[in-house]
Amino acid sequence: MFEKAIITIDGPSGVGKSTAAKSVAEKLGLSYLDTGAMYRAIALQAKREGVNIDLANELESLLDRTEITFRRDQNHVLLVLVNNEDITDKIRSPEISRLSSDIATKGIVRTRLIEIQRNIGQQGGIVAEGRDMGTYVFPDAKYKFYLDADLEMRAQRRCNQLHESGSDANMDDIGKQIAARDKQDMERSESPLHPARNAVIINTTHLNADEVVLKIIKEVQGL
Ligand code: C5P
Repeated sequence: MFEKAIITIDGPSGVGKSTAAKSVAEKLGLSYLDTGAMYRAIALQAKREGVNIDLANELESLLDRTEITFRRDQNHVLLVLVNNEDITDKIRSPEISRLSSDIATKGIVRTRLIEIQRNIGQQGGIVAEGRDMGTYVFPDAKYKFYLDADLEMRAQRRCNQLHESGSDANMDDIGKQIAARDKQDMERSESPLHPARNAVIINTTHLNADEVVLKIIKEVQGL
């Protein structure tokens, strides 16, 4: 019934989009498209190769020599590859978060990545997660969601994630980083972050991951 559907899930950082999108995709038998990982992958390569992201020609040739693909490992975990190298664990640092938001302001990067995203979504059957999925990349998607939550809760969650993965993290610093990234994502000229006109808005501040998924699935099933 949903095999051709496109479900978009947008929202600022740390609202639980990835967890929700993955789980909704799994429960409905759809593919999961993590578009943030694509911006992160380009950011990682830009850093590694010392690219000046303010120079359009440098960015363009970086894009020309960077192929982003997704693959599932034997445990069905989604891996992100650049030029066939698994970079899944290398794109989650605070530095790459910041750089990916900088790089996402560049029209040339967005144009390229959006083309790939639309190709992936062409056949339908995906849950697409990002910032501009419902507004710009898939404006005709049948089901659109926008997740939001209080900044303090988002900082707390991100801090917990970092602690779990063994990294040092301070709530105050994380809160400031998230707020700065949101501001840049919302104020950029190229497809800025905002809810699509027809998106269902879910505030996740007081919801756990299962409750968010349930809300989305009920909405999609028209319950
Ligand atoms: O979702 P995630 O935190 O992985 O995204 C990293 C950055 O990539 C965001 O801060 C945003 O600047 C950018 N992004 C975007 N459009 C998307 C997905 C991510 O601009 N569709």
